Amino acid sequence: MPDLHNTDRLRDFVTAMAALLESKPTEARILHDGTTLLKQLVATDDWLPDAYALARPERYQQYLLHADSAERFSIVSFVWGPGQTTPIHNHTVWGLIGMLRGAEFSQPYKALAGSGLQADGAPHKLLPGMVEAVSPAIGDIHQVRNAVDDSVSISIHVYGANIGGVRRSVFALDGAEKPFISGYSNAVLPNIWDRSIALKNPRQ
Ligand code: FE
Repeated sequence: MPDLHNTDRLRDFVTAMAALLESKPTEARILHDGTTLLKQLVATDDWLPDAYALARPERYQQYLLHADSAERFSIVSFVWGPGQTTPIHNHTVWGLIGMLRGAEFSQPYKALAGSGLQADGAPHKLLPGMVEAVSPAIGDIHQVRNAVDDSVSISIHVYGANIGGVRRSVFALDGAEKPFISGYSNAVLPNIWDRSIALKNPRQ
């Protein structure tokens, strides 16, 4: 992978998401049109700077790539090393998950009244280019893990808030709920606004 990256792809996605949200669409419209946009973004794996694709042995990484100035959405690269998994968690806002590299399993759960959580169908396997959605309206609780035993997997997530600051929950299978604010793994963000890069590193 080259050192110069086509960060204009990420910038185009940011501006297209902002334009989509400008008209205050329904959540269904956001998920539909956002899926189309995210599929375009993850169709080509040449734009994620290496610093936001690094796995760490301790745990999976969540690198903030962009936060909307009004916190209407955020974009995060999730990087799983071999064997890494999230806890069972919710989001409380809409989310789109686009697979960029490798593969992951997402296992949906449903809450049973008074008796914990139950797997809701089989895990979904996401392969590069695929996008799936979560939200309180369509199913918001899942667990995600790297589906590849011997290498890193990366997915690009878009959420309807500044997700690292959202108060949400992790769950045990018995339904026990713990408050959770994920934060982010990085202190600096990629510079997607240097339009001269397109001249130095034209799109293929
Ligand atoms: Fe999730």
